[in-house]
Amino acid sequence: MLYKSTRGDNEKLLASETILEGLSKDGGLFVPEEIPPIDIKEISKLERYQDVAFLILKKFLTDYTNDEISYCIDQAYNLDKFDNKFITPIFSFNKNCSITELWHGPTQAFKDIALQIMPLLLSIAKNKNNIHNEIVILVATSGDTGKAALEGYKDVKGTKIIVFFPHNGVSEIQKLQMITQEGTNTFSFAVKGNFDDVQTSVKSIFNDVALNNKLLQNGFELSSANSINWGRLVPQIVYYFYSYIQGLKNNLFDMNSEINFVVPTGNFGNILAGYYAKKMGLPIKKLICASNSNNVLTDFINNGIYNRKRKFYKTISPSMDILISSNLERLLYDLSNSDSNYILNLMIQLKENGEYKINNDLHSKIKNLFWADWVDDTTTKKQIYKDFKENNYLLDTHTSVGRSVYLKYISQTKDFTPTFILSTANPYKFSISIYEALFGKPDPTKSEFDLMFELEEKTNVPIPAPLRSLKEKSIIHKVVINKEQMSDEILKILGIKS
Ligand SMILES: *Cc1c(COP(=O)(O)O)cnc(C)c1O
Repeated sequence: MLYKSTRGDNEKLLASETILEGLSKDGGLFVPEEIPPIDIKEISKLERYQDVAFLILKKFLTDYTNDEISYCIDQAYNLDKFDNKFITPIFSFNKNCSITELWHGPTQAFKDIALQIMPLLLSIAKNKNNIHNEIVILVATSGDTGKAALEGYKDVKGTKIIVFFPHNGVSEIQKLQMITQEGTNTFSFAVKGNFDDVQTSVKSIFNDVALNNKLLQNGFELSSANSINWGRLVPQIVYYFYSYIQGLKNNLFDMNSEINFVVPTGNFGNILAGYYAKKMGLPIKKLICASNSNNVLTDFINNGIYNRKRKFYKTISPSMDILISSNLERLLYDLSNSDSNYILNLMIQLKENGEYKINNDLHSKIKNLFWADWVDDTTTKKQIYKDFKENNYLLDTHTSVGRSVYLKYISQTKDFTPTFILSTANPYKFSISIYEALFGKPDPTKSEFDLMFELEEKTNVPIPAPLRSLKEKSIIHKVVINKEQMSDEILKILGIKS
C-alpha cells in the first residue's frame, strides 16, 4: 500500500517513508491510497488486543515484515507498560452504554496507545531506508503529549527526545511526570512563557535552515512527534475494533448489531481513526464528536462552516482546548473523493481568512456519519459528581465531556444503539478539577499532589502506580530557560559547538 498527500503532490510513499516524513512537503497530510477492508467475522474471533493490532497494522504497513510488526506490538502492548491485560478494557453502565478506557498505559492518557508503538515503527523505518542520522524529536507540549512522547522514545535506539513545556502552564502532576523522566536519551525543559510561546519557538527551530544544516553536518536530523504523523493514527484504529469484540464477548449485543462511539475531540485524530474503522467494515452507526467550550467542531459538523475566529477558552479539559483540528483535513479529503484541489483551497481559506465553508454534498455526508455537541465546565463537573454518586464510576474531565454529550444525544435522538464512550485520561491526572467536582473548591494551600492522595482516601478509587510513585522519584530535569536559549540547549545536548 502506498501513501499520498491530501494536497495533490504526486509523490507516493511506502508506509515506512510516510512515518519518517511526517508531513508532506506540500503541507498536506499523508493518507493511504485506499482503506483496506477487514472481515468482521474473522477479526471478531480474536481475543487478544495484540492480535487485533497485528491484523490491522499489517493491512496498512505493507513494507514492514510480519516479524517487525509483531516485535513492535509485543514491545509496546505488554503488562510492563500497561496495567490491564486487555490494554483498553471496557466498563459498562448498562447494555447500551459502556466506557472504553484508553488510559492504562505508562502516562495515564490515551496518547500512550500511539506513542508506545510509533517510536519503534520509526526506528525500523530508519533502518529500512538507510537513514544513518540520529533522529532528534522535538516536542512543545501543554501537558499530555510531552510525557507520553518521553516514555515512548525512552531508550529507543537512534533517537533522542527533547520536550519543552511552559514553566507555569502545565499542572503540577504533569510537570512532575516530565521532570522525573528517566532514560539515557530523554530531556525536558521548563520554558518561561505560555504554551503558544513555546510552540512558536519550536516551529521556528524546525524552520531554521542554518541550524538544521549544522545538525545534518553532525549526523542529526529533527523530527516531530505530532499527532498528524500516520504512525500515530493507525494504532488508534485498533481499539475501535477491540471495543466491539469485548462488547460481543460480554453479550452486550450480537453480530447483527450496530454500535456508536462518543469521542472527546481536540485535534480530530482519535475520532478520525473511528471513521477509518467504519470504512474498513466495523458496523458503526454514528460517530459522536464531543467538545468543550472550544466548540469549533460542533459548529462545523452542524453548519458546514469551520470558523476559528472565536474566543479561546481555557477549560478543565485542557487537552481539548484546540481551535484548529488538523486531522479534519484527512476526513474532508476522503469524503470529497480525493479532490486535492478542493482541499488545498479550503486550507488556504482557513489560513488567510480563518474560516471556510464546505459544499452541501460534503456537508450532508458528514451529517450522516457524525453527530456533534458540546458542554461547558459546569456540566462537565456535574456529570463527574453524578456518575460517581449513582454509578460509583469516576470519570476524568475529558471523558465527562463525552459522557455529557452522550446523554444529550440520546435525549434528542432516542437512539439507544449500544454505545462506547472513549475515556481518554485517568481522573488522577486532573486531580484538582475532579476534587472540586466531587467535594467543592479545595483548600488553596494544598498542592495538587496532596489532593490526589486525599481524593483516593475519599473515593477509594486507586491511584495508578506511576502517579503514586512520582513522590519517590528524583528530579532529573531541573533547568528553567528562556525561549531564546532553546536552540543552544539542543546543540549542547548533541555536543555541537554553537
Ligand atoms: C489528546 C487528548 C484528547 C484529544 O484527542 P484528539 O485526537 O486530539 O482529538 C482528548 N483527551 C485527552 C486526555 C487527550 O490527551
